[in-house]
Formats: sequence, C-alpha cells, structure tokens
Amino acid sequence: MNAARRFIPFNKPFLTGKETEYIRMAVESGKISGNGDFTRRCQENLEARLHSGKILLTSSCTDALEMAAILLDIRPGDQVIAPSYTFVSSVNAFVLRGAEIVFADSRPDHPNIDETQIEKLITPKTRAIICVHYAGIACEMDAILGIANKHGLAVVEDAAHAIASFYRGDRALGTLGTIGVFSFHETKNIIAGEGGAISINKPELVRRAEIIWEKGTNRAAFFRGEADRYTWTDIGSSFLPSEITAAFLYAQLENAEQIQARRLQSWKKYPELLQPLAEKGFFSIPVIPGYATNNAHMFYLVCRSGEERAGLIAHLAAKQIHAVFHYQPLHRSPFYLKGNNPVSLPNAERFADCLLRLPLYYELELADVEYICEAVKEYYTQK
Ligand SMILES: *Cc1c(COP(=O)(O)O)cnc(C)c1O
Repeated sequence: MNAARRFIPFNKPFLTGKETEYIRMAVESGKISGNGDFTRRCQENLEARLHSGKILLTSSCTDALEMAAILLDIRPGDQVIAPSYTFVSSVNAFVLRGAEIVFADSRPDHPNIDETQIEKLITPKTRAIICVHYAGIACEMDAILGIANKHGLAVVEDAAHAIASFYRGDRALGTLGTIGVFSFHETKNIIAGEGGAISINKPELVRRAEIIWEKGTNRAAFFRGEADRYTWTDIGSSFLPSEITAAFLYAQLENAEQIQARRLQSWKKYPELLQPLAEKGFFSIPVIPGYATNNAHMFYLVCRSGEERAGLIAHLAAKQIHAVFHYQPLHRSPFYLKGNNPVSLPNAERFADCLLRLPLYYELELADVEYICEAVKEYYTQK
C-alpha cells in the first residue's frame, strides 16, 4: 500500500471552533477564577443532560474521585471494592484517604466489573463499591445497586468514559450511584484539556460537597446569603477549575450531540467491517448489552494472545495506523504488590494482555475506518 499515506493517530482532540471565543469572553469579563458564569452554564447543561440533581465542575476526574472519597468519609481501615482493570485514579483517590482496595475481576465478556463477584468480597470493613463504565458501556447497575443497598454501601460510578451514556432507558451513567464522576481530559469524547465533573446523587450530600469543593469553606453558602461569615468549616481542597477551562468546556457541551453522532457513525463502521473476522474466531469485538447504550467512546478488539496483539500493533504501525493497548491491571501493579499478596483475576489479566483499541475520533473518516479494517484483515489472512 502507498507509503505516503497520512498517519492515522489513535486520538485527535476535536475543537468546535467556539472554544477560543468563549475563553476570550471569560478573560474579558474580568472573572477568571472558578465558579463563575461559564462554570454555572456548564453545570446547568450537564444537570439537564444527565437529569442530575447536582453537578460541580472539577479540574479533573481524578479530582472528582478525590472529592468523592472525602465526601463519603472514607477512613484508614475502610475497604473499597473496585475493578482491577481501570485507571489508577479510580482507586488512588481512596488510598489517599487510607482505604484498602479489594480488587474484583472483570466480566468474562466485558472489562466492566463482574457484578457476580462482588458480594463475596464484602467484609464488615467494606464501605463502597467503585464501578467503572468501561468504554462508556454501563455496568449491570441494578445488580450492583441491589448489593450496595443490602449491605449499606456507597456506590461511586467512574463515568470518565461514559458521558451521555445510559442504562435501561434514560438512566444516565454517573447519576445512578451515590456519586458519579466524569472526565473532560483531551482523550475523552467531550474535552476541556484537563477537566472533570462530579454528580452528587444524594441531596443530603450536596451541602458538604460544595464546601469540600471550595477548600473546606462555606464560600458558596456565604455568597448565597445563607451564612454571615465565610470561614473554614470542613476539610477540602481546591477542586474547582478556572473559568478558562469552563469556557472551553461550554463550547464542547453546546455541540455534544453533534460530537456524539459523528463518533457513533465512525464507531458503527468497525463492527460492520470486522464482524466476519470475529466470526472466524480471530478476535472478539465489543458486544453492547441490551441494557446499555453506546456513546462511541472507544472501539476495541480482544485478541487471542498478547503475542498476536503485539504483532497486530506492529502491522498497523507499518501502515501508519496507531493502535494502542490499555490498562495494566492494578492488582499486578508495583504499588499494590508492595503492600499486598498477589491475587489472580484472570479476566482483568486477559483484557490487559489482549485488548487493543483502534483509532476513534471526531475527524476520523469512514474511508480511514475502511483502511484500518483492511489492514487488520491483512494481518489475519496473510500470516
Ligand atoms: C481518564 C480516566 C480517569 C481520569 O480522568 P482525568 O480527568 O484525567 O483525571 C479516571 N478514570 C477513568 C476510567 C479514566 O478513563
């Protein structure tokens, strides 16, 4: 094939065109720290879009997770159940509060936490279950919420991949558990460079969330005229982003439907072209369960072995296509193994060794997807 073909990156951040205009507006307004007009507009947009009772923007999803751990009063000695096949921040936030992480395996058919493996991990010290909606596909939330209710546990949904994705009808991911968190990192569908949000799904937690968000002060209540002093009332940190970030994000949120529709169009082309190879057993492609929607965050293959995946990555690289693997399972990480005995989580290990993400971004052309799928086919049929 032609060597002059342009490189197809794994990801390319999409700009709607309004970002710099809104940043200029924010800067010229003279209010560039956090919790201003653009922050309010983003929060209202997200609350309406997700039917969330309360959204607060954060500087990152990592920050939102750290807020969640403080808000749930996670303390040394507490245990938190989480999938191993996830990003470090999903659990590091709880470790910062002194929690012990108890890792659960992925489902056999999907990287999401295996809901049937959770209950046996619960002990008297368990405080929360973290679920990560991998690739924007819902975990089996009714089962997870049922277990949490039965044992009096909080549920934190890491919806970093899962903006505008739903479970059983119109139940937005990130709004079903006690707390949900989102990421607007440049690798996600809706971006702000670095950015995130937290959805507080229990009204009784909203007050304290605002305080933790603004450095442990009652600033929000003070400015609403509900307190006569602005003072230190709890622990907290500086979790809110500046108006510059919020202005960028607002341009993206205004165009969210268009962004999602275009990504979905590219996404759908992959299974259409790769299904015949999957049927031959070369690899598996994502199955979207009946209870989940697809927000086209990611398209991946699960190869038969790590060697085959390495060969495919090299084959695609030679064709100017950048395909990448994903998480190292956290139960095999050096940090975890320093303080814990090795455990075996076969599904998480298989996804770590065999899952390969193919390029997906707004500007990816259908012809690019055809070219990528042709290159995948070549690898499996010319070996
Ligand atoms: C991206 C990601 C995060 C962290 O998001 P940041 O906004 O970069 O902090 C957390 N969890 C998951 C599952 C992610 O993919």
